[in-house]
Amino acid sequence: MQLSFYGAVGTVTGSRYLLSHGQHRLLVDCGLFQGVKNLRQRNWRAFPVPPGDIDAVVLTHAHLDHSGYLPRLVREGFRGPIYCTPASRELAEILLRDSGHLQEEDAERANRHGYSKHKPAEPLYTLEEAEASLRQFKAQDFHEAFEVGPFRVRYLHAGHILGAACVLVECAGKRVFFSGDLGRSVDPVMRPPEPPSRCDYLIVESTYGDLRHPAEDTEARIGAIVRETAAKGGTVLLPAFAVGRAQTLLHLLTRLRAAEAIPAVPVYLDSPMAIDVTEVFCRYREEHRLSQAECRALCEGVRYVRTGEESERVSANTHPKVIVAGAGMLTGGRILHHIKAFGSHRSTALVITGFQAEGTRGHALLHGADHLKLYGEYVPINCRLELLEGLSAHADHVEIGDWLSTLDEAPRRVYVTHGEPVAADRMRRYLHERFGWRAEVPEYGDVVELI
Ligand SMILES: [Zn+2]
Repeated sequence: MQLSFYGAVGTVTGSRYLLSHGQHRLLVDCGLFQGVKNLRQRNWRAFPVPPGDIDAVVLTHAHLDHSGYLPRLVREGFRGPIYCTPASRELAEILLRDSGHLQEEDAERANRHGYSKHKPAEPLYTLEEAEASLRQFKAQDFHEAFEVGPFRVRYLHAGHILGAACVLVECAGKRVFFSGDLGRSVDPVMRPPEPPSRCDYLIVESTYGDLRHPAEDTEARIGAIVRETAAKGGTVLLPAFAVGRAQTLLHLLTRLRAAEAIPAVPVYLDSPMAIDVTEVFCRYREEHRLSQAECRALCEGVRYVRTGEESERVSANTHPKVIVAGAGMLTGGRILHHIKAFGSHRSTALVITGFQAEGTRGHALLHGADHLKLYGEYVPINCRLELLEGLSAHADHVEIGDWLSTLDEAPRRVYVTHGEPVAADRMRRYLHERFGWRAEVPEYGDVVELI
């Protein structure tokens, strides 16, 4: 059996791992590359193997950096099933449709304003192509093994977002275990990850391979930011991923308001996608910690903003308020026009939550940028900038170490992926120091024999 690394190496995006055995090929995750330009350009290159030769795709979870290339893979000839957990199936439907729509919109906008080097600019895939890929999805429950040719596959709870799984693949007497994106045991909303499975080969993520999450009281910090901003008559901007972070923020804001720790300013969820995701979230109660009453309170305490016109009205409204909108790393979405409207005001608070990949606007702000390029023009950023690190949906390296410490036997080989170079290397050294394991950090295109 061979394992090829076609993404999430040297970066946190573009997760794609190919397992090959004889004529059979199984692709674990099929993500979009995001962030710096030379990574994004990989989305436009031919897939490293002919998509028509892949038997099946197994998704760990629905985030686009794990699923967002699927419509393109299908367009290029992939005809097999796309396996994922039931909640991931529902989330992927929302995310991929939105992604197709955004790809079309971006191409259209680039053509209108003439800021693309490609003439005419083309979308990576369309909404229709995203919908076509959804027809190949097949939901598989956690813990129930299913077979793809010689591969036997099983999902374990990863606790990262709704539906997120670690994947165990058994083939030719070997066990290959993918951590996927691993959640945290202390998440305010998600349940902790299940213990890892015994395995011969381990592929482990390293988003926070060189960092520890601070033990801060996130709820109290959000409370203070909302109180102080509202007192100045300002707006709190909370860029958030539609899946996961948005629901966590709404839950914390709901609790703060119930405890009267923040004033009764309106909280807008300005993302049709996050609204749909919140509804899915409330239907999969067994995957998270919130009770039915908490889910209801979360939905009732927030004002949903669905249309573009409503969103523009929120931007024009100068009263104190909280806006939760995507995208989390400021790579697109409605948060951009709110930043354009409020980012130059000193009374505004812009709260970055979670990991910001290199090359994104979020990353630039955290590294001192005082202007952002929005819709082709530079906008000054004079507002209060806050970073909330405690809301990460990824375990840090020590938490991953604690999770792996439950393994009775060391894996024969360990591959550290899904991290920027420094983080992945630190994770590699950490696993060696803590367990004596000889881990490796693969490079893009590496192929290893699993013998
Ligand atoms: Zn993820």
